[in-house]
Amino acid sequence: MNMRHERISILGLGSMGRALAGALLDAGRDVTVWNRTPGKAGDLLARGAREAPSVAEAIEAGDLTVACLLDDASVREALAPAVPKLAGGTLVNLTSGSSRQARDLAGWLEEHDVRFLAGGIMAVPPTVGTDGAFILYSGARELFDRVAAVLGPIGRPHWAGEDPGAAALYDMAALSAMYGLSAGADHAVALVHADGGDVEKFKREVLRPWMEQTLPIMVAGADVRDSVPDEYNPAMQATGLETMLAFSAEAGVPDERAGHLRASLWAMRRAAAG
Ligand code: NDP
Repeated sequence: MNMRHERISILGLGSMGRALAGALLDAGRDVTVWNRTPGKAGDLLARGAREAPSVAEAIEAGDLTVACLLDDASVREALAPAVPKLAGGTLVNLTSGSSRQARDLAGWLEEHDVRFLAGGIMAVPPTVGTDGAFILYSGARELFDRVAAVLGPIGRPHWAGEDPGAAALYDMAALSAMYGLSAGADHAVALVHADGGDVEKFKREVLRPWMEQTLPIMVAGADVRDSVPDEYNPAMQATGLETMLAFSAEAGVPDERAGHLRASLWAMRRAAAG
């Protein structure tokens, strides 16, 4: 069978599920969709998708079932009544969760004779199907090779390893880094705004080039030990962070926005203490 012509069923039509279905339809794939709350298929139907009235019927309509629901609990809830229909078939779970949840799900599905690949989407809905998008998968390599050929249009497939928890682990860790940067950028803008600065000018002329310059250094320097190279003098950085926290409080920026500075201060003090 030509893998590209495998029929794909997507469980979940939130903003990500809709984006996945859309990218697969654009690539000419055969797509059936299901959503807990009916009526969310919108223009996907006009673009060629079929809508299944139940999870069981969606599973029956596909050679490959892809889940993209809110969280692990929603995947369990949706699959529980229909899992016998998946026996002998394949499930790809692109719902975010922890590595432990992915390993537990793999064990449960194995008991039901379901082939399983866990995934993590390294994209947001508007970037699904674009060059930058990539999808982490973990599980059996030969299953990944088959799934990669079918789901390639949603984003570049990247195999994280045999351990079913690997994709979720890397996904959660990468998201942690992203949220840290996002919290920092929000705090930066809040400071500029609170002190009467021009936010747009700051973003354009300072924040973006500064982030671009420092991003590779941050990634290369990330370390489980709180080791800071000599040229980045941790005692000096701790003093700078204390000044920033004091300025943030004076400017009236809510303390909750400055949590990333406290995390860095903690690490610099530990590094300075040796
Ligand atoms: P949405 O909140 O837009 O959609 C959530 C989906 O989950 C809906 O289809 C909802 O159905 C369904 N759902 C929730 N609870 C249940 C349940 N108990 N049983 C069955 N279905 C349920 O989320 P997204 O589509 O944006 O995200 C989906 C997954 O993709 C998440 O795990 C998210 O972390 C991941 N992801 C999202 C990204 C993004 O930028 N959006 C980026 C990368 C990953 P209903 O319509 O009935 O409520």
